[in-house]
Amino acid sequence: MKITSKLPNLGTNIFSVMSGLSNQHNAINLSQGFPNFDCDKKLKNLVNHYVQNGHNQYCPMTGVPALTQRLADKIQHLYQVAYNPKTEVNITSGATQAIFSTIHAFIHPGDEVIIVEPAYDCYQPAIQLAGGTVVPYQIKAPDWKIDWEAFGKLITSKTRMIILNTPHNPSGSILTDVDYQALQKLVAETDLLILSDEVYEHMIYDGQKHCSILSYPALRKRSLAVYSFGKSLHATGWKLGYIVGDEALMHEFRKVHQFDVFSTNTPMQYAIADYLEDENTYLGLSDFFQQKRDLFLDKIKDTPFKFTPSAGTYFQVVDYSAISDEPDTEFAKRMTIEYGVAVIPISVFYHNNLDHKVVRFCFAKTEDVLEAAGELIQKIEIK
Ligand code: PMP
Ligand code: GLN
Repeated sequence: MKITSKLPNLGTNIFSVMSGLSNQHNAINLSQGFPNFDCDKKLKNLVNHYVQNGHNQYCPMTGVPALTQRLADKIQHLYQVAYNPKTEVNITSGATQAIFSTIHAFIHPGDEVIIVEPAYDCYQPAIQLAGGTVVPYQIKAPDWKIDWEAFGKLITSKTRMIILNTPHNPSGSILTDVDYQALQKLVAETDLLILSDEVYEHMIYDGQKHCSILSYPALRKRSLAVYSFGKSLHATGWKLGYIVGDEALMHEFRKVHQFDVFSTNTPMQYAIADYLEDENTYLGLSDFFQQKRDLFLDKIKDTPFKFTPSAGTYFQVVDYSAISDEPDTEFAKRMTIEYGVAVIPISVFYHNNLDHKVVRFCFAKTEDVLEAAGELIQKIEIK
């Protein structure tokens, strides 16, 4: 049988590849982004409670009302903007599904979508499947800043959407007020939509605050923002998240969502609604992860790796050019096999595999693991 692939150039994603290699060589896995510790027992007990008490059937397509209400309250509190929990907030099967459905709701064949590279890996295939064209804008180490004038030159009459991600995976950089002011000017006279991937909103360091697109009235009306409970609850395996946007945009989003997934895990949504009543469950995350970042950086500070402390996410990128001139994919493999610490090469997040000798570590790990990884990293020899 002849199969004509819709995504002929896609292989297995880098996270599966590096985690697989890590397992095969018994390495410490600082590649794929997930915590090596469990979610809160209180949260697990709540899930258990709702499962035992018969909350096991389909919930509304938009999500369990107690949860969408809780999230609307949270957004109001954090970003000073009122979203209607019934019409403007939707629970999804992770941020990935929210992103996929949004792209399919708005991108027509021939539309252009600007993404910022290095880009999280699920954007490009979704755009391609919708018949859209990816237009990459590249940011680079060490500052990973967007030059908005150069960015603006990519906007054409075909541009339909911009996808932003802050805090940014993999670089750990963040967008600030200055970025949003520039963006606001750029898009003022256009019909462009913005998809804002804010899954790491609660992991932001050194006293900085997450700047959400939702806080900017002129941008908000054209924006959908996505979030992930996988990140904020240490439960990546639950694949639950949510999306927020103005009613007219959410109306279109829901047309796809209802046939893409319809609704998502019911008892967990009830449990999360109760759990988030205590805002410390998410407001404490920055301190929690900053300690991990600092412990890890302290361990590698005297090695030839060069780095700027990550401003957000639970990732740290490092420049290894003082150690080796191997391509980053080779270096990542060698780190895993010879030194026992698995990392992610950054070039895979650029369409042209731009290699500027940078790899990513995930520091969402317990102290013992970060210490042990640090000891192994200290042994790396210059090649
Ligand atoms: N966006 C970014 C930037 C991510 O890093 C991730 C997952 N790590 C996602 C989206 C997907 O989130 P989820 O697991 O909730 O689908
Ligand atoms: N988002 C995670 C990361 O960046 C991985 C998600 C996945 O494995 N697909 O590492």
